[in-house]
Amino acid sequence: MGIFSKPRLKGSQAKNRDTVPNDLWTKCPDCGEMVHTLDLRQNHLVCPKCDHHFLMGAYDRLQLIADEGTFDETSVELISANPLGFDHYKEKVELLRSKTGLNDAVVTGRLEIGGYPVMAAVMDFKFFAGSMGSVVGEKITRAIERATLENRAVIIFSSSSGARMQEGMLSLMQMAKTCGALALHGEAGLPYISVFTHPTTGGVTASFATIGDINIAEPKCMIGFAGPRVIKETTHQDLPPGFQTAEFMVDHGLVDSIVHRREMRSKLTTMLSYLMDGKSK
Ligand SMILES: [Zn+2]
Repeated sequence: MGIFSKPRLKGSQAKNRDTVPNDLWTKCPDCGEMVHTLDLRQNHLVCPKCDHHFLMGAYDRLQLIADEGTFDETSVELISANPLGFDHYKEKVELLRSKTGLNDAVVTGRLEIGGYPVMAAVMDFKFFAGSMGSVVGEKITRAIERATLENRAVIIFSSSSGARMQEGMLSLMQMAKTCGALALHGEAGLPYISVFTHPTTGGVTASFATIGDINIAEPKCMIGFAGPRVIKETTHQDLPPGFQTAEFMVDHGLVDSIVHRREMRSKLTTMLSYLMDGKSK
């Protein structure tokens, strides 16, 4: 190298890459529009062009629906064990805990919506694809039981790939456990509103998600048990257009209403005003 040649800055390219965050723009998977991430967040993670509802984290969702300053998280201490000794399960849970800041795939807690007392369980797809293991089932069951004791409505936002296979039968028994707690909550004369968000499938669809006093869904979210490919291969039949979407489920009676994310809080308040009439406010 000549004595007067300009020295090359080491790592300058890498530095440039770091100064432009990869997540400044987000491509809408539905219409292909590039949306500025700030605009997307201000629009409650809904595409401003086509209304596609992006996945939403549990805490963002709670912030969207709760009266300010009323959320009080419960069962924070519960963490998955590895009851079957499944290979690498413990490591995967630990990795997801550090990556997402969540302890498992659901956040539960007390809150008020429009002044009405509610116990909410909000699933988060980022954690293990929202799969339901013992911790998810136990947290939801404890939330429902607390709601019964404290005279609160239950609202569950579902987003799940189904039961967590790494916990085998212990995952499957959460289906009966959560539904049993909801039956006692219903006998106490308290309402349960189930909210489907994209995607709700497997053991969650086959248990608490479909037995709300009112079942509502975000637009175009997928609702099903098995995926469409599995059904097609099993039945050897072409599936109808729009199969397993929220809109299809409204037409066929499983879902009562589609609610846009921006209207979620006001619609829940209206429903609670009808269903919690005479209960403490
Ligand atoms: Zn879009």
